Amino acid sequence: METKDSLIHAVAASGTLMAVAASTRETLQEAERRHDTWPTAAAALGRTLTGAVLLSALLKSEGQRVMVQVSGDGPLGLVVAEATAAAAGVLVRGYVQNPRTDPPRVRRGKLDVAAAVGQGTLWVVKDLGLREPYRGSVPLVSGEIAEDLAYYLVRSEQTPSLVALGVLVEPDGSVSAAGGVMVQAFPGADDETLRRLEVRARSMPPISSQLEHGRGPEEILHGLVGDLSPQVLDSRPVSFQCRCSRERLAGALRSLGKEMLTELEQEDGQAEVVCRFCGEKYLFTREDLLGLIGEISGKPQ
Ligand code: ZN
Repeated sequence: METKDSLIHAVAASGTLMAVAASTRETLQEAERRHDTWPTAAAALGRTLTGAVLLSALLKSEGQRVMVQVSGDGPLGLVVAEATAAAAGVLVRGYVQNPRTDPPRVRRGKLDVAAAVGQGTLWVVKDLGLREPYRGSVPLVSGEIAEDLAYYLVRSEQTPSLVALGVLVEPDGSVSAAGGVMVQAFPGADDETLRRLEVRARSMPPISSQLEHGRGPEEILHGLVGDLSPQVLDSRPVSFQCRCSRERLAGALRSLGKEMLTELEQEDGQAEVVCRFCGEKYLFTREDLLGLIGEISGKPQ
């Protein structure tokens, strides 16, 4: 079944639980195409991107953003995903430092994301349009990313949460199914309800296989909180979209300073700047570089 990616947002159990579910296959296919990720890197980046999409459900207004950074000492290096709440839906972008990472499989051919991530820290940065972004972090407890995000939500935001992420990657690195679900308990949530929910989450079929069998985010959400009178509040489209532009990258070049720009202009005669979030290449010719140097020189000291 061919469906567009979406994020659905619901409340359940008389408003004491928030439940969100997302399908992200097309978004991750675009990420995989842009970054040419090998299977384990595709899974790690895909889970991180999907986690950021789920966290974006907590953003209140357009223009707000949440960034998830998985910073481990494994071969992947840094994994970064950012989701922005926009009029057009949830826009996500992200990258993995070493996209050509694919350690040996563990049992039954399962990708070993934890080994590729290693030990380290999970960062969550929320830009709510205030002067300072909010930053929180926890040590990585598993490296499989879903558990790490749940641990972050409990530890750093004091919100008991269930997070499940699924990314099914084919041997050629392409993503055939992807999505996730998150349930959060608000103060006043009943302990017995939470306990039942946890049991159900443990016995639930993996998200990736549910999506593979054609179940959409709404059905996945119902599978988890269906008997707790869920009420769907909204559904937003999700897509891979970067915020980079020629102007932004010109700004990055300008910040290198006059001396370095002059060196680039004289030695290379041009500069190619690649956006690490989306892989887009921007070429700045000698004239462009001279223009930037001129702008710097023209600035009052
Ligand atoms: Zn970009």
